[in-house]
Amino acid sequence: MGHIQVNRHINAFILADTCAQLGATIGTASCVSGLSVTVLRRLLYDKSGEKRGRGIASAIFWYERANNMAKADACMFAAIFMQVCELNDFGTSYTPGNALIDSFKLYSERCRRDPYVSIDRAFLLACHLKGIWTQRSPSLLLKTCRYCTSQYIVHRRNVMSCNNPCIFCHLVKGYATDPRIRRHFPQPDPHTALQVHQPDLAAHYALRRAGHA
Ligand SMILES: [Zn+2]
Repeated sequence: MGHIQVNRHINAFILADTCAQLGATIGTASCVSGLSVTVLRRLLYDKSGEKRGRGIASAIFWYERANNMAKADACMFAAIFMQVCELNDFGTSYTPGNALIDSFKLYSERCRRDPYVSIDRAFLLACHLKGIWTQRSPSLLLKTCRYCTSQYIVHRRNVMSCNNPCIFCHLVKGYATDPRIRRHFPQPDPHTALQVHQPDLAAHYALRRAGHA
């Protein structure tokens, strides 16, 4: 077996193991690592592990029914994931699976309250944003709000919608009156705080990978 193949296999096992540690279902771990469910069942998952979490469903289905805080969390993960993808070249040692794991960890570190986006939901969002793994083409898009400049998720078929779909504008509007929003975003201005920190995290991450930080 060649050196490149060995590295690819090692990376796949590390990815699968990390997915399992983060609580991913076996289906997610299989897609992300490229290893078969049979292999993962033998090495990492027992029967209770396989039943944990929800199966691979539609990210759009979940997103459209989520509350506004969960939507904001999804936007935050999506912004980090897209930047990590943009700032790294994919190859045998760094794959979209690595980008998913790194983005999920950055997102989790960023959350001040319990994250709404699990590793399985992050995986689904990544599928629909990039058109990878379970999806043949991207169906979700990140747009920049013309009012608050935050990045929010929109379905590609709704991209020309006349209404303002920016979730952060809605959160800012309800911030003074809704204690649930204030609990989840303890900062005085949720969209500004998110917007400021997202690029910093991704840039720091990219520099760290390149050995500059
Ligand atoms: Zn906005």
